[in-house]
Amino acid sequence: MKVPILLPNIFNHPFTYESKINLKVGDYVIVPFGKAKITGVVWNKFEKKTNKSFLIKEVLQKLHVPSLKKNTIKFLNWFSEYNMIPKGMALKLLLLSNDAIEKFSDENYKKFKTKIINNEIKLSIEQKDSLIKMNKLNKKFRVHVLQGTTGSGKTIVYFEALKQLIDKSFQGLIMLPEIGLTSQFEKKFIEFFGFNPAIWHSGVTKKNKKIIWSGIANGKIKVVIGARSSLFLPFKKLGLIIVDEEHDQSYKQDEGIIYNARDMAISRASFENIPVNLITAVPSIETFDNIKKEKYSLSKLNQRYLNASFPNYEIINLNNTKMESQSWISKKIIDKVNLHLEKKDQVLFFLNRRGFSPYVLCKKCLKNYSCPNCSINLVYHKHKQNLLCHYCGYKTQLARNCNKDGMCDFVFSGPGVERIYEEVKKKFPSKKTTIFSSDTMNKKSSSEILEKIINNEIQILVGTQLISKGFHFPNLNCIVVVDIDLSSHGHDLRGAEKNLQLYHQLSGRAGRTGKPATVYFQSYNLNTKMISDITNKNPDLFLEKELELRKSNNLPPYQRFIALIVTGNDENVLEKESLRFKNFIEKTLEGKILGPVNAPIFRLKKKFRTRLLVRGKKSLKVQSSLTKIISKFKFASGLKLTVDVDPINFN
Ligand SMILES: [Zn+2]
Ligand SMILES: [Zn+2]
Repeated sequence: MKVPILLPNIFNHPFTYESKINLKVGDYVIVPFGKAKITGVVWNKFEKKTNKSFLIKEVLQKLHVPSLKKNTIKFLNWFSEYNMIPKGMALKLLLLSNDAIEKFSDENYKKFKTKIINNEIKLSIEQKDSLIKMNKLNKKFRVHVLQGTTGSGKTIVYFEALKQLIDKSFQGLIMLPEIGLTSQFEKKFIEFFGFNPAIWHSGVTKKNKKIIWSGIANGKIKVVIGARSSLFLPFKKLGLIIVDEEHDQSYKQDEGIIYNARDMAISRASFENIPVNLITAVPSIETFDNIKKEKYSLSKLNQRYLNASFPNYEIINLNNTKMESQSWISKKIIDKVNLHLEKKDQVLFFLNRRGFSPYVLCKKCLKNYSCPNCSINLVYHKHKQNLLCHYCGYKTQLARNCNKDGMCDFVFSGPGVERIYEEVKKKFPSKKTTIFSSDTMNKKSSSEILEKIINNEIQILVGTQLISKGFHFPNLNCIVVVDIDLSSHGHDLRGAEKNLQLYHQLSGRAGRTGKPATVYFQSYNLNTKMISDITNKNPDLFLEKELELRKSNNLPPYQRFIALIVTGNDENVLEKESLRFKNFIEKTLEGKILGPVNAPIFRLKKKFRTRLLVRGKKSLKVQSSLTKIISKFKFASGLKLTVDVDPINFN
């Protein structure tokens, strides 16, 4: 028999093979391809007929794993079409590697088995109501949003919902952003369910990935807690997908194969015909829009745990207070913080900027440091003793020899979190202080530090946005936002939404056990309107306004955006070719095309970049017409095109 077999490579179609073994759609097989042997999957459609004739080779072997479900195949086909990615690359997300499939003994799956536990968890009335709403229509595809203020106990509600499906022998997938810091969450899971979830992210070893992959395909693993890529696991009997922190922009995969994992989770659920729950304190603009249109159902949790109250807000006008030079913490804040410390409150100083200083200049020779690969300044990291490019990872030392008279005399302009940490230590010398940023912690030290914070062994924290995510710090009752930077930089249509999410999450860290808490915003720019908008207890008001703005400007979610980024080594060739490309696709495209313009970061990782933006209706037609035209266009050598459907980042 002849069978179509899709291979995990850059081709957008399956290849035709001959098979003596009886095969059906979804079977995993090993086939020869060129000189290699490759694992592929029997696909649901043959490749289109071409005039070229190929030698048809024979399938070597069928692998003994439960075959890939037809609905999952349909999902992968759709995924490839929507994101304009070759089908083979979509399969690669599922297959991982060529030798992904192995058999493992039951010994490997012991910890994923249920122990009998007896934990009666009391849900509040609000939580019970929410659970009932969530469980309605649980037998087929539907999207439910659980919107609960920070600290209102959302997790327990969706754990209960998941438990009911697991009891009926379904599998579940819980997606989380920032999967690196899941130890607190994992503990909570095990306490509730009495068995281990499989943890899935890019840091899991190859061997463990294979064990998990196989356990999921065979149904031996019940629940996966995973980052973006967990979406592509070959579940045997998936019953529910939960996307926690659905608003989090790290669900967008920005490099390599570009896709939005939250959106793709919803579509996978739709292809599998199973329910999906989105969990958030403040929904993303798209989700909010879908709630309003009643495409998604909604339940809300408004009460915080133990009836904890929401923090108060206070704006500290820096124009009225005199600051010492090279200082970023005002006298007024120091007084306020001291009052909190006297009450044994924990204090957090927050600045969303990594490193020590974002700009370094020598006063004598005027040397400054920018990245040789990108058009961007290098950030000085004192802790690591180097200058670092936050975009490409380029590192260099601070060279202290002027061309002229000996040593350089550096000016460090502006603070990063490390610099605030130094100042805090100087201003509060008797207090135990720690810094919490992705540069200063690894997985091991982070759990130690977390433990100390929770046990109130640390009095002052200094941190970046890493600290705003999901942690429960019982004694944190004072947050100082060192510099509320609300200027959007012009190339991010989500600037306002991002700020809302960030500061809402951040203030959610304070006052979690009922004591009064305050968030202080230091600011020169007295955009008090903006600050009161984003700190409003009812974030829906802000989202309403933002949605209006998007509508009147014809922006997503009212239109589809597709970014086309062309990169190359030669500025002139790039410019000419981008223009030629635009003219070529413009005529037959479904939609409008803007650009080409130089990208805001014109040079990135040694490549110059121009951007084009397609704006069209929200219909797959835009993608399919674009895919067709692009396939007919040949760029000059050395140029590369990247397609980003529904872009978030406009760098
Ligand atoms: Zn760089
Ligand atoms: Zn110098």
